Amino acid sequence: MRVYNFSAGPAVLPEEVLKEAAEEMLDYKGTGMSVMEMSHRSKAFDGIIKEAEKDLRELMNIPDNYKVLFLQGGCSLQFAAIPMNLMKNKKAAYIVTGQWAKKAYQEAQLYGEAVAVASSADKTFSYIPDCSDLDIPEDADYVYICENNTIYGTKFWELPNTKGKTLVSDVSSCFLSEPVDVTKYGVIYGGVQKNVGPAGVVIVIVREDLITDDVLPGTPTMMKWKTQADNDSLYNTPPCYGIYICGKVFKWIKNMGGLEAMKVHNEKKAKILYDFLDQSKLFKGTVEKKDRSIMNVPFVTGSDELDAKFIKEATAAGFVNLKGHRTVGGMRASIYNAMPIEGVEKLVEFMKKFEAENA
Ligand SMILES: *Cc1c(COP(=O)(O)O)cnc(C)c1O
Repeated sequence: MRVYNFSAGPAVLPEEVLKEAAEEMLDYKGTGMSVMEMSHRSKAFDGIIKEAEKDLRELMNIPDNYKVLFLQGGCSLQFAAIPMNLMKNKKAAYIVTGQWAKKAYQEAQLYGEAVAVASSADKTFSYIPDCSDLDIPEDADYVYICENNTIYGTKFWELPNTKGKTLVSDVSSCFLSEPVDVTKYGVIYGGVQKNVGPAGVVIVIVREDLITDDVLPGTPTMMKWKTQADNDSLYNTPPCYGIYICGKVFKWIKNMGGLEAMKVHNEKKAKILYDFLDQSKLFKGTVEKKDRSIMNVPFVTGSDELDAKFIKEATAAGFVNLKGHRTVGGMRASIYNAMPIEGVEKLVEFMKKFEAENA
């Protein structure tokens, strides 16, 4: 029996995708082998990665002057790759809205001057600071944000005013959740294990003029975007199976009606949960309403004991991975693309029942 999996990542994948992958496990399209077993230089895999890129470009409407890279090392390796590839003046502005932004900011300090131009640490990252008129250094090479804060459940609904500087955005936990205007970014990237596929792939979409040989001295060959771009992500063996599953998820989203349809689907789910939280006498959301994420929804009862009881009983009822991040406690429901509406409806029913029983 499948459960309703509210994990923040690795997270729920569409059942159709998993079934298709299972059907193709032993024999991928007459090749007589699994995608796990084939050469990354084979015709079959070439078809898989090219098709995946084509579908992603179509979904996100990625302009021709952007490269799409399928890489390894997760977001955490890109935290270093970003300054290595972009810090010409050795200076960058970071907006610190949570733990992932903070980690990126700290990593950048290894390579140059990372300046925190805004932060919401004063209120445990429960809001997005006003970024309309920040003090961005003249010579900053880029402005960095984490667009959807997976742990705290906040989202930039308006991009910061970068004052003409290149915007770099970590979209891990909102990747493909809604339409996006790629032209507003220099770099838009994310680990796929939240909303797109299995762990092991990070997708980096970079504007071509930012891909150069002019990187920081000592940048590993593998971390130079130019190496990866010149080799169509096949400089070395890529995470083949992960890319294959991502490709299937792209097709699934296309069949669902693309990113416009995903947005409608996601807003509907989030509204069900937030509407309940807003009228509940027991549960309450933890972030500023205007900054609420529609992907990650943290909430608390106000009592650690009741939180623990809720998580335990929810798990037994088939609603799993609702425990909040270890640094914040409480609960968090991650309701990514692949979470069906009935998963959220049933969770809310369960919460109502729990509330009545524990009033
Ligand atoms: C999960 C997550 C990360 C970390 O990704 P790794 O692939 O584990 O390095 C970074 N940023 C955001 C927004 C995340 O949700």
